[in-house]
Amino acid sequence: MMDYHIHSDFSPDSNAKIEDIIKSAKEKGIDNIIITDHYEVVKGEHSFKFDIEEYRRTMEKYCLPVGVEFGWDGETEIDTDLKIFDFVILSCHVFDRPATQESYKKYLERLLLILEKFDSFHVLGHLDFPRRYSENFTPFSKDLYPIIEEILKLIIKNGKGIEVNTDSMLKYGEPNPSYDILKLYKSLGGEFITIGSDAHEAKDVGNNIEKVSQILKELGFNYISILNGEWDMIKISC
Ligand SMILES: [Zn+2]
Ligand SMILES: [Zn+2]
Repeated sequence: MMDYHIHSDFSPDSNAKIEDIIKSAKEKGIDNIIITDHYEVVKGEHSFKFDIEEYRRTMEKYCLPVGVEFGWDGETEIDTDLKIFDFVILSCHVFDRPATQESYKKYLERLLLILEKFDSFHVLGHLDFPRRYSENFTPFSKDLYPIIEEILKLIIKNGKGIEVNTDSMLKYGEPNPSYDILKLYKSLGGEFITIGSDAHEAKDVGNNIEKVSQILKELGFNYISILNGEWDMIKISC
């Protein structure tokens, strides 16, 4: 089993020690993890950068790939070469509040703009992210599916993937993106999927990954992608 979205104390919103993350993963039988700390190139107070050299050395000390959750607003100048990372989740955490269908729409338009400008990543993180912050966790309306389809087609065309983020399972019983969006990705020929818990505490590593993997299988996805030096696909087990 894998978990490709974990935050350690390199992130501003986690105190998890890498030793504890590794121990927790081992205890849960998760043999393939990547720590992906926040690196936020955005305007204002949420901007956050860590020392990449120190980060790289630390991950290598623990024999872990060097992963990152690269947050970008699509506007702020990027002065970092992301090729130094083995695994890049491209995320956008910027959206208008309250999270309504109108702000979902703007969020998707921003994602499209980001994808048109930026190529140094492997998977797009938690595609319907603002849903986590909406009243009653309202799903994205079907009216927004044409733009979601455009985003997914661009991802597939550019040889990128999407991450299935299980953090929202506890909140409303669906991952980000939702099962309906995952079905759309499948129908468009999308195959490149990574899966991650978005754990900010060591005890949460691997949460709901097995469960969501089984549901992915029911949706017709037979493989999850893992990084084994090169990208590889592993069959979702029974
Ligand atoms: Zn995120
Ligand atoms: Zn995250």
